[in-house]
Amino acid sequence: MLEAAATALVLGSVLMLGWAAWIIGRFATRLPAGHLRGEWAVLLGFIACFILGYLGYLGVFRPAHRSVTDLGVPGVFLLGAGFVLVVARLMHRTARDLSRISVLEAENITDALTGLYNRRDFDRRWNAELARAKRFGLPLTLLMADIDHFKSVNDDFGHAAGDQVLVAIGRLISESLRASDLPARYGGEEFAIIAPHTGPQSALVLAERVRNAVEQRAHQALGKAAGERKITISIGVAGCDNAAQGCEHLFERADEALYAAKRGGRNRVVVAA
Ligand code: GH3
Ligand code: MG
Ligand code: MG
Repeated sequence: MLEAAATALVLGSVLMLGWAAWIIGRFATRLPAGHLRGEWAVLLGFIACFILGYLGYLGVFRPAHRSVTDLGVPGVFLLGAGFVLVVARLMHRTARDLSRISVLEAENITDALTGLYNRRDFDRRWNAELARAKRFGLPLTLLMADIDHFKSVNDDFGHAAGDQVLVAIGRLISESLRASDLPARYGGEEFAIIAPHTGPQSALVLAERVRNAVEQRAHQALGKAAGERKITISIGVAGCDNAAQGCEHLFERADEALYAAKRGGRNRVVVAA
Protein backbone atom coordinates (compact mmCIF):
# COMPACT_ATOMS: atom_id res chain seq x y z
CA MET A 1 0.00 0.00 0.00
CA LEU A 2 2.74 2.48 1.00
CA GLU A 3 4.83 1.38 -1.98
CA ALA A 4 1.91 2.07 -4.28
CA ALA A 5 1.42 5.52 -2.69
CA ALA A 6 5.12 6.33 -3.11
CA THR A 7 5.07 5.20 -6.74
CA ALA A 8 1.94 7.27 -7.39
CA LEU A 9 3.56 10.36 -5.81
CA VAL A 10 6.72 10.01 -7.91
CA LEU A 11 4.88 9.27 -11.15
CA GLY A 12 2.53 12.20 -10.44
CA SER A 13 5.60 14.43 -10.01
CA VAL A 14 7.03 13.18 -13.29
CA LEU A 15 3.74 13.93 -15.07
CA MET A 16 3.68 17.45 -13.64
CA LEU A 17 7.26 18.10 -14.71
CA GLY A 18 6.47 16.74 -18.17
CA TRP A 19 3.49 19.08 -18.40
CA ALA A 20 5.63 22.05 -17.32
CA ALA A 21 8.31 21.08 -19.86
CA TRP A 22 5.68 20.93 -22.60
CA ILE A 23 4.40 24.44 -21.71
CA ILE A 24 7.91 25.87 -21.57
CA GLY A 25 8.97 24.11 -24.80
CA ARG A 26 5.97 25.47 -26.71
CA PHE A 27 6.58 28.94 -25.34
CA ALA A 28 10.33 28.93 -26.01
CA THR A 29 9.98 27.87 -29.65
CA ARG A 30 7.96 31.05 -30.26
CA LEU A 31 10.84 33.21 -29.03
CA PRO A 32 13.36 34.40 -31.62
CA ALA A 33 16.54 32.30 -31.63
CA GLY A 34 19.02 33.90 -29.26
CA HIS A 35 20.20 34.25 -25.72
CA LEU A 36 16.77 34.20 -24.05
CA ARG A 37 15.65 31.08 -25.89
CA GLY A 38 18.94 29.46 -24.87
CA GLU A 39 18.19 30.17 -21.22
CA TRP A 40 14.76 28.57 -21.47
CA ALA A 41 16.48 25.55 -23.06
CA VAL A 42 18.74 25.37 -20.01
CA LEU A 43 15.66 25.31 -17.77
CA LEU A 44 14.22 22.50 -19.89
CA GLY A 45 17.50 20.63 -19.40
CA PHE A 46 17.11 21.02 -15.62
CA ILE A 47 13.56 19.68 -15.77
CA ALA A 48 14.74 16.69 -17.80
CA CYS A 49 17.38 16.01 -15.13
CA PHE A 50 14.73 16.16 -12.41
CA ILE A 51 12.53 13.72 -14.32
CA LEU A 52 15.44 11.31 -14.71
CA GLY A 53 16.32 11.75 -11.04
CA TYR A 54 12.76 11.01 -9.92
CA LEU A 55 12.54 7.92 -12.09
CA GLY A 56 15.98 6.88 -10.88
CA TYR A 57 14.74 7.16 -7.30
CA LEU A 58 11.98 4.69 -8.09
CA GLY A 59 13.92 2.30 -10.30
CA VAL A 60 17.53 2.33 -9.18
CA PHE A 61 17.39 2.91 -5.46
CA ARG A 62 14.18 0.98 -4.89
CA PRO A 63 13.77 2.57 -1.46
CA ALA A 64 11.58 0.77 1.01
CA HIS A 65 8.57 2.78 2.17
CA ARG A 66 7.59 1.15 5.41
CA SER A 67 6.01 4.03 7.28
CA VAL A 68 4.15 7.18 6.38
CA THR A 69 7.26 9.26 7.14
CA ASP A 70 9.08 7.35 4.39
CA LEU A 71 6.69 9.09 1.97
CA GLY A 72 8.39 12.37 2.87
CA VAL A 73 10.83 12.26 -0.07
CA PRO A 74 8.22 11.45 -2.77
CA GLY A 75 6.01 14.10 -1.14
CA VAL A 76 8.73 16.70 -1.51
CA PHE A 77 9.18 15.59 -5.13
CA LEU A 78 5.50 16.25 -5.72
CA LEU A 79 5.65 19.70 -4.11
CA GLY A 80 8.72 20.63 -6.19
CA ALA A 81 7.08 19.44 -9.40
CA GLY A 82 3.88 21.32 -8.52
CA PHE A 83 5.89 24.48 -7.93
CA VAL A 84 7.60 24.18 -11.33
CA LEU A 85 4.26 23.56 -13.04
CA VAL A 86 2.59 26.56 -11.38
CA VAL A 87 5.51 28.83 -12.33
CA ALA A 88 5.46 27.56 -15.95
CA ARG A 89 1.71 28.16 -16.27
CA LEU A 90 1.94 31.62 -14.69
CA MET A 91 4.85 32.56 -16.94
CA HIS A 92 3.00 31.39 -20.02
CA ARG A 93 -0.23 33.24 -19.17
CA THR A 94 1.60 36.41 -18.14
CA ALA A 95 3.58 36.45 -21.40
CA ARG A 96 0.36 35.91 -23.38
CA ASP A 97 -1.43 38.73 -21.58
CA LEU A 98 1.52 41.09 -21.99
CA SER A 99 1.70 40.43 -25.71
CA ARG A 100 -2.07 41.06 -26.01
CA ILE A 101 -1.67 44.33 -24.13
CA SER A 102 1.17 45.47 -26.38
CA VAL A 103 -0.89 44.67 -29.50
CA LEU A 104 -3.82 46.66 -28.07
CA GLU A 105 -1.52 49.57 -27.22
CA ALA A 106 -0.08 49.60 -30.74
CA GLU A 107 -3.61 49.58 -32.20
CA ASN A 108 -4.55 52.38 -29.84
CA ILE A 109 -1.87 54.75 -31.07
CA THR A 110 -1.82 54.00 -34.77
CA ASP A 111 -4.18 55.03 -37.51
CA ALA A 112 -5.66 51.83 -38.95
CA LEU A 113 -5.42 52.95 -42.58
CA THR A 114 -1.95 54.48 -42.83
CA GLY A 115 -0.13 52.99 -39.84
CA LEU A 116 0.94 56.50 -38.78
CA TYR A 117 0.23 57.84 -35.28
CA ASN A 118 -3.40 58.74 -34.77
CA ARG A 119 -4.64 62.10 -33.60
CA ARG A 120 -4.83 61.14 -29.95
CA ASP A 121 -1.28 59.90 -29.71
CA PHE A 122 -0.08 62.79 -31.81
CA ASP A 123 -1.54 65.28 -29.29
CA ARG A 124 0.18 63.47 -26.46
CA ARG A 125 3.51 63.46 -28.25
CA TRP A 126 3.13 67.09 -29.22
CA ASN A 127 2.66 68.14 -25.60
CA ALA A 128 5.70 66.11 -24.56
CA GLU A 129 7.90 67.51 -27.36
CA LEU A 130 6.78 71.08 -26.69
CA ALA A 131 7.50 70.74 -22.96
CA ARG A 132 10.94 69.25 -23.69
CA ALA A 133 11.83 71.92 -26.25
CA LYS A 134 10.79 74.68 -23.84
CA ARG A 135 12.72 73.21 -20.95
CA PHE A 136 15.97 72.79 -22.85
CA GLY A 137 15.65 75.75 -25.22
CA LEU A 138 15.53 73.53 -28.32
CA PRO A 139 14.17 74.28 -31.77
CA LEU A 140 10.83 72.70 -32.65
CA THR A 141 8.72 72.75 -35.80
CA LEU A 142 5.24 71.61 -36.74
CA LEU A 143 4.20 70.78 -40.30
CA MET A 144 0.55 70.52 -41.35
CA ALA A 145 -0.12 68.90 -44.73
CA ASP A 146 -3.41 68.60 -46.63
CA ILE A 147 -4.05 66.75 -49.88
CA ASP A 148 -5.04 69.08 -52.72
CA HIS A 149 -8.50 68.61 -54.22
CA PHE A 150 -8.83 65.23 -52.56
CA LYS A 151 -12.60 65.34 -52.85
CA SER A 152 -12.27 65.19 -56.62
CA VAL A 153 -9.90 62.19 -56.32
CA ASN A 154 -12.68 60.37 -54.47
CA ASP A 155 -15.27 61.58 -56.96
CA ASP A 156 -13.23 60.52 -60.00
CA PHE A 157 -11.67 57.26 -58.82
CA GLY A 158 -13.88 56.10 -55.96
CA HIS A 159 -13.48 56.11 -52.20
CA ALA A 160 -11.43 52.88 -52.12
CA ALA A 161 -8.89 54.38 -54.53
CA GLY A 162 -8.87 57.51 -52.35
CA ASP A 163 -7.98 55.30 -49.40
CA GLN A 164 -5.09 53.82 -51.37
CA VAL A 165 -3.83 57.34 -52.05
CA LEU A 166 -3.96 58.07 -48.31
CA VAL A 167 -1.95 54.91 -47.61
CA ALA A 168 0.61 55.84 -50.29
CA ILE A 169 0.98 59.38 -48.98
CA GLY A 170 1.40 58.08 -45.43
CA ARG A 171 4.20 55.84 -46.67
CA LEU A 172 5.85 58.59 -48.73
CA ILE A 173 5.77 60.93 -45.72
CA SER A 174 7.38 58.29 -43.49
CA GLU A 175 10.05 57.53 -46.05
CA SER A 176 10.92 61.21 -46.48
CA LEU A 177 11.40 61.89 -42.76
CA ARG A 178 14.18 61.19 -40.28
CA ALA A 179 13.66 58.60 -37.58
CA SER A 180 13.23 61.34 -34.96
CA ASP A 181 10.34 63.05 -36.79
CA LEU A 182 6.81 62.08 -35.75
CA PRO A 183 4.24 61.82 -38.54
CA ALA A 184 0.53 61.44 -37.82
CA ARG A 185 -2.74 61.27 -39.68
CA TYR A 186 -4.31 64.29 -38.10
CA GLY A 187 -7.73 64.13 -39.74
CA GLY A 188 -9.38 62.66 -42.84
CA GLU A 189 -6.88 63.84 -45.46
CA GLU A 190 -4.65 65.93 -43.23
CA PHE A 191 -1.28 64.92 -41.89
CA ALA A 192 0.76 66.55 -39.15
CA ILE A 193 4.46 66.09 -38.54
CA ILE A 194 6.44 67.08 -35.46
CA ALA A 195 10.07 67.82 -36.25
CA PRO A 196 11.92 67.92 -32.92
CA HIS A 197 15.34 69.65 -32.74
CA THR A 198 14.49 71.37 -36.02
CA GLY A 199 14.00 75.08 -36.73
CA PRO A 200 11.53 76.28 -39.37
CA GLN A 201 14.16 76.86 -42.05
CA SER A 202 15.55 73.33 -41.76
CA ALA A 203 11.98 72.02 -41.68
CA LEU A 204 11.35 73.79 -44.98
CA VAL A 205 13.86 71.42 -46.61
CA LEU A 206 12.04 68.49 -45.01
CA ALA A 207 8.65 69.78 -46.16
CA GLU A 208 9.89 70.27 -49.73
CA ARG A 209 11.18 66.69 -49.73
CA VAL A 210 7.78 65.40 -48.62
CA ARG A 211 5.88 67.59 -51.09
CA ASN A 212 8.13 66.53 -53.95
CA ALA A 213 7.90 62.81 -53.10
CA VAL A 214 4.10 63.03 -53.11
CA GLU A 215 4.02 64.95 -56.39
CA GLN A 216 6.32 62.42 -58.06
CA ARG A 217 4.88 59.19 -56.72
CA ALA A 218 1.49 59.39 -55.00
CA HIS A 219 -0.47 58.98 -58.28
CA GLN A 220 1.07 55.51 -58.63
CA ALA A 221 -1.48 54.36 -56.01
CA LEU A 222 -4.19 54.90 -58.66
CA GLY A 223 -2.43 52.64 -61.17
CA LYS A 224 -2.98 53.19 -64.89
CA ALA A 225 -6.30 54.91 -64.21
CA ALA A 226 -4.33 57.96 -63.01
CA GLY A 227 -3.22 58.77 -66.57
CA GLU A 228 -1.48 62.12 -66.50
CA ARG A 229 -3.07 63.13 -63.21
CA LYS A 230 -0.78 64.06 -60.32
CA ILE A 231 -1.68 63.98 -56.63
CA THR A 232 -0.23 66.86 -54.66
CA ILE A 233 -0.22 68.23 -51.14
CA SER A 234 0.14 71.66 -49.60
CA ILE A 235 2.15 72.11 -46.42
CA GLY A 236 2.16 74.80 -43.74
CA VAL A 237 5.23 75.05 -41.52
CA ALA A 238 5.50 76.84 -38.18
CA GLY A 239 8.32 76.59 -35.72
CA CYS A 240 10.83 78.30 -33.50
CA ASP A 241 14.60 78.13 -33.11
CA ASN A 242 14.49 78.29 -29.33
CA ALA A 243 11.33 77.15 -27.61
CA ALA A 244 12.47 78.64 -24.29
CA GLN A 245 11.99 82.11 -25.80
CA GLY A 246 8.36 81.47 -26.71
CA CYS A 247 6.98 78.94 -29.11
CA GLU A 248 3.27 79.62 -28.91
CA HIS A 249 0.35 79.07 -31.24
CA LEU A 250 2.26 76.76 -33.58
CA PHE A 251 -0.93 74.94 -34.56
CA GLU A 252 -2.72 78.14 -35.52
CA ARG A 253 0.34 79.44 -37.36
CA ALA A 254 0.92 76.16 -39.24
CA ASP A 255 -2.77 76.13 -40.19
CA GLU A 256 -2.61 79.71 -41.45
CA ALA A 257 0.51 78.87 -43.47
CA LEU A 258 -1.29 75.83 -44.91
CA TYR A 259 -4.21 77.97 -46.04
CA ALA A 260 -1.79 80.49 -47.50
CA ALA A 261 -0.28 77.58 -49.49
CA LYS A 262 -3.79 76.64 -50.70
CA ARG A 263 -4.59 80.21 -51.65
CA GLY A 264 -1.21 80.54 -53.35
CA GLY A 265 -2.11 77.80 -55.82
CA ARG A 266 -1.58 74.51 -53.84
CA ASN A 267 1.27 71.98 -54.25
CA ARG A 268 3.55 74.25 -52.27
CA VAL A 269 5.13 74.82 -48.87
CA VAL A 270 4.62 78.02 -46.90
CA VAL A 271 6.55 78.83 -43.73
CA ALA A 272 4.67 80.94 -41.18
CA ALA A 273 6.14 84.42 -40.68
P1 GH3 B 1 -8.43 71.29 -50.78
O1 GH3 B 1 -7.37 71.30 -51.82
O2 GH3 B 1 -8.99 72.65 -50.54
O3 GH3 B 1 -7.95 70.67 -49.52
O4 GH3 B 1 -9.63 70.43 -51.37
P2 GH3 B 1 -10.15 69.05 -50.85
O5 GH3 B 1 -11.09 68.50 -51.86
O6 GH3 B 1 -9.01 68.16 -50.51
O7 GH3 B 1 -10.84 69.45 -49.50
P3 GH3 B 1 -12.26 69.11 -48.91
O8 GH3 B 1 -12.16 69.45 -47.45
O9 GH3 B 1 -13.34 69.75 -49.70
O10 GH3 B 1 -12.41 67.55 -49.07
C1 GH3 B 1 -11.71 66.64 -48.31
C2 GH3 B 1 -12.07 65.27 -48.81
O11 GH3 B 1 -11.33 64.25 -48.16
C3 GH3 B 1 -13.52 64.94 -48.62
C4 GH3 B 1 -13.52 63.60 -47.97
O12 GH3 B 1 -14.42 62.72 -48.57
C5 GH3 B 1 -12.12 63.11 -48.19
N1 GH3 B 1 -11.70 62.19 -47.13
C6 GH3 B 1 -11.54 62.45 -45.82
N2 GH3 B 1 -11.19 61.34 -45.16
C7 GH3 B 1 -11.11 60.34 -46.08
C8 GH3 B 1 -10.81 58.95 -46.02
O13 GH3 B 1 -10.51 58.38 -44.96
N3 GH3 B 1 -10.83 58.23 -47.18
C9 GH3 B 1 -11.14 58.83 -48.37
N4 GH3 B 1 -11.12 58.08 -49.46
N5 GH3 B 1 -11.45 60.13 -48.44
C10 GH3 B 1 -11.44 60.88 -47.33
MG1 MG C 1 -8.70 69.14 -45.47
MG1 MG D 1 -7.63 68.72 -48.99
